[in-house]
Amino acid sequence: MVILVVNCGSSSIKYQLFNMTDESVLAKGLVERIGLEGAQLTHQPAGKEKVVLTADIKNHSIGIKMVLEALTHAEHGVLKSMQEINAIGHRVVHGAEKFADSVLITPQVMDALEECIDLAPLHNPPNILGINACAELMPKTPQVGVFDTAFHQTMPKYSFLYGLPYEAYEKYGVRRYGFHGTSHRYVSQRAGELMDEHITNLRIITCHLGNGASIAAVKHGKSVDTSMGFTPLEGLVMGTRCGEIDPAIITYLMKKEGLTPDQIDTYLNKKSGVLGLSGISSDFRDIEEAANEGNERAQLALDVFAYKVRKYIGGYVAAMGGVDAIVFTAGLGENSVSMRDKICQGLEFLGTRIDPVKNNVRGKATEISVDGAKVKIFVIPTNEELVIARDTEQICANLV
Ligand code: ADP
Repeated sequence: MVILVVNCGSSSIKYQLFNMTDESVLAKGLVERIGLEGAQLTHQPAGKEKVVLTADIKNHSIGIKMVLEALTHAEHGVLKSMQEINAIGHRVVHGAEKFADSVLITPQVMDALEECIDLAPLHNPPNILGINACAELMPKTPQVGVFDTAFHQTMPKYSFLYGLPYEAYEKYGVRRYGFHGTSHRYVSQRAGELMDEHITNLRIITCHLGNGASIAAVKHGKSVDTSMGFTPLEGLVMGTRCGEIDPAIITYLMKKEGLTPDQIDTYLNKKSGVLGLSGISSDFRDIEEAANEGNERAQLALDVFAYKVRKYIGGYVAAMGGVDAIVFTAGLGENSVSMRDKICQGLEFLGTRIDPVKNNVRGKATEISVDGAKVKIFVIPTNEELVIARDTEQICANLV
């Protein structure tokens, strides 16, 4: 099967075209600045030159049309016609409690997605636009939704409820949902494969450390806790997001600074995290460089980040009654040798330690703990697109 994987953001569309016979990527690319000046499509066909096309890309429909044209183009295309695409898989951010698994898109599913907009007002609308655009252009091609929240639907109630009046959950769905589920699911399964052990026998802590960052406790293949909550703002200190704070700080700062709800939202989501702490950048490469040059606040931002990750790891060991493996993934987790080392300092009591030679690795699935460690530590590059393609293939196998 040939499967197109689509990830629509508010002004972008990321895509990958898979040949599922060998799970190879035939082409991938990115539409950027939709609805803005300087919009463009960057298309990378496998084994051919990258092409960049600038155009007036007013909306997601036009963006998807350009993607399909690029995929079937006489020179830089990889397909003869769009009929060769057997199915389309979409990343959808929020499935609330309605979706615990990936689903075939139907009119009923679209209605349910509309109902989820309230919980993810920034993320779900572009996902819906992408699905509608594909349905318009390829009405006969089945589409599948794969949710960031779905993997965490196995969390027990005592783990996902906040200490708020129960009505907040019943009336408004206020609870922990968790995000990055597709990534936590993929890397925990890969860890099981690398350990040559069935996932149902393992307790794994997966650390997805990118611009957005979250940790999950995966017990016997199921997510039992995760650090992001009702929204992706909770948990770790992130690039620009504050992570967990005392909720009283919010009203305190609103009063002191005279901030509106929208302004405090921007403050916590865009101006905080390691950017706010360091005053330098949200990008860990810039912060690590500044810290190496002696900048104290940059060093402090790294210290706060690493400490918080270590605290979550400790908490999840307790939540699962032990741990067999710790996995690092996403931009920072896959690439930052020094951050992995810093996080794991002090975890010796668990019976594990990083091997500095093995840890000198970037973007490659490998074990980095010392030989014979009781708890294995891994670097595993995430591949959310492949999971979306696999789910789509499985769901559509009998339809096409
Ligand atoms: P997202 O998908 O959440 O935007 P990514 O998973 O792509 O984020 O991760 C981006 C983050 O990874 C950036 O903050 C960047 O600093 C960090 N990163 C990427 N490569 C490195 C590296 N070599 N060293 C340190 N940090 C890195």
